[in-house]
Amino acid sequence: MHIHTTFSPCSRISIYEALVTALDLGLTGIAITDHDTMEGALKANQIASKYEIKVFTGCEVTAFEGHILAYGVSERLPINLYAQDVIERIHSLGGVAVAAHPFRNMENSLNNKIFELDLDGVEVFNHVPKRSVNKEARSAAIELGVAQIGGSDAHDSKYIGRVATLFKDEIPDEDSLIEAIIKKTCKPVVPRKSPRHRSR
Ligand SMILES: [Zn+2]
Ligand SMILES: [Zn+2]
Repeated sequence: MHIHTTFSPCSRISIYEALVTALDLGLTGIAITDHDTMEGALKANQIASKYEIKVFTGCEVTAFEGHILAYGVSERLPINLYAQDVIERIHSLGGVAVAAHPFRNMENSLNNKIFELDLDGVEVFNHVPKRSVNKEARSAAIELGVAQIGGSDAHDSKYIGRVATLFKDEIPDEDSLIEAIIKKTCKPVVPRKSPRHRSR
């Protein structure tokens, strides 16, 4: 639910690498969420049909107060808007908004601002070294009564799949992904087969 490709300036994962690594791990789908661009996700979507994996279009939007993950939106969202404006824009385009790593640091995270926003989900499990920040995010999601998402926030392929989101029902398309997040029929998981156990 949170993978960066080389379409983000800070990631080393090519689209091909993201697909192959995820397939190798047995993941059934990935969401590509580059910083402020859907280009990588859209490109990955085009080639994903050749592979047995679904690619969902996402984006990690830089709002004035912090990072927000958008799913189900294929249009580029403006940056440096206030978080609530970004969320409204996402909703008007039919997508859902999830707070990314809300308590990770002061700069790129919404922190306590999330309690004032109309979010659809909170990333409660981000691959961060400090566990307490995930705990804080989980409590916030419970308090807000929104979906709990797990995302690796991978910038290097070895982190893909270290954290994932398990959906109760099958997710054949983007509409079902949006619906599942709204219905909260998902949970963060740490998949059993981690990248370091890979066969190749
Ligand atoms: Zn971020
Ligand atoms: Zn990220």
